[in-house]
Amino acid sequence: MRELRCTAKGRLEWREVAEPQLPGPQGALVRPISVARCEIDPLLISAGPVHAGEFAVGHEAICEVVSVGSEVTKVRPGDLAAVSFQVSCGACWRCSAGHTANCERYPVLSDYGMEPLSGVEYGGMLADLVAVPHANAMLAPIPAGLDPAALASVPDNVADGYRAVAPHLSQRRGAPVLIACHGARSIAAYAAQVALALGSAEVTFASDDKRVLDLAAELGATPLLTDWGRRPGRWPIVVDCGTSRAGLHYAVSCCEPDGILQSVSFYPAPGTDLPLGKMYTLGVAFHIGRAHSAALTPAVVELAATGAISPGAVTTMTIGWDEAPEQYLADAIKLVVTRSGA
Ligand SMILES: [Zn+2]
Ligand SMILES: [Zn+2]
Repeated sequence: MRELRCTAKGRLEWREVAEPQLPGPQGALVRPISVARCEIDPLLISAGPVHAGEFAVGHEAICEVVSVGSEVTKVRPGDLAAVSFQVSCGACWRCSAGHTANCERYPVLSDYGMEPLSGVEYGGMLADLVAVPHANAMLAPIPAGLDPAALASVPDNVADGYRAVAPHLSQRRGAPVLIACHGARSIAAYAAQVALALGSAEVTFASDDKRVLDLAAELGATPLLTDWGRRPGRWPIVVDCGTSRAGLHYAVSCCEPDGILQSVSFYPAPGTDLPLGKMYTLGVAFHIGRAHSAALTPAVVELAATGAISPGAVTTMTIGWDEAPEQYLADAIKLVVTRSGA
């Protein structure tokens, strides 16, 4: 079968690889039909292979179920499903607590399409078949009538935007939200969509990127052009998206006393100089960490199914499967690859 692989820094190629086998009675084989480019993909691909000579690419996907093991009850062949990009068992104590990104049975960062981070090749979603070892835990069925291309990013970047605001808005109903977008533009846009859908009185979207500000305005947020200098106000919930030191410090400065600062970002240490003294004094609650894909995805699918959010509105470029090697790194806020093409 064909699988898209990163074969050198910035280079993608189709490779003929062996088809995966059904991974036991709890497993499924799925065929990706729409794949979204994650915010991390361009970074991994531009850095190139780290351990092996090449690695499979892509981890946000909606797939068609091809075959299932005897213990799989959640899906049947022919169903469409969102696939957790993190491999997780669904049964250990961490998975049971909803902390599926840190499943006890797998090494940390056991993700599709991220061999450079984990050192283990689980395959990528830009492939004809993918093995899912725990189908009941890792697959979220997609209701009929929903557009798979619009939902491709649901298992990762949309879920990331969701968890950035949903738990905090459930504690502070109707609270205004500030999103500081200095990178990870699609996650920031999904967070804005979800915050508005969940009843935030106003979502202010701060960025130095005019394209994402225009998109945020289309989604119903209030755009705010900033150079990450003086704070324009204070908010009870602030979402930090990006990896610039200036953006992070702006986000901290915009928190109300006893406010919540949620970061969706990975900051390579050292260099952020987080102002812990100021945060202590004001009682800023700082949340940071990876999203739990398997645990979050069903709720995000549900939100999309009811029409409360339209993840497809964040997609700025759609390409066909065969165009992926040349176009996957194109300049787009959100790029989606579909088998049916643009
Ligand atoms: Zn990702
Ligand atoms: Zn587990």
